[in-house]
Amino acid sequence: MNIYNLLKGEISQKELLNYYNANITYEQLPNKIDGFVFQFKGIFNIIINNDLSYYKKRKTILHELAHIELNHLGQINSDMFKFKINQYEDEADMYIKYLLEDK
Ligand SMILES: [Zn+2]
Repeated sequence: MNIYNLLKGEISQKELLNYYNANITYEQLPNKIDGFVFQFKGIFNIIINNDLSYYKKRKTILHELAHIELNHLGQINSDMFKFKINQYEDEADMYIKYLLEDK
């Protein structure tokens, strides 16, 4: 089960979130922040900016799910993350782009 199945409509977002042990919370965030994800006690917490349009919310959720699926959170420790953050951002976006093109 993965994002590709979600994009193809084979599974629901809820099913994928359950599979990854992930929750989405919509919050008031600074303008520049679309969303982010962190892991706490085995649960992935995806925080999405509540002011985004429906489309942008969907896109941001996919982006955060890509971080989970690509195992970015498991690989980071604070120092390394500073160097890796841009690479991971690009990788997450490219992954979604690739999946959408392949659909
Ligand atoms: Zn990101």
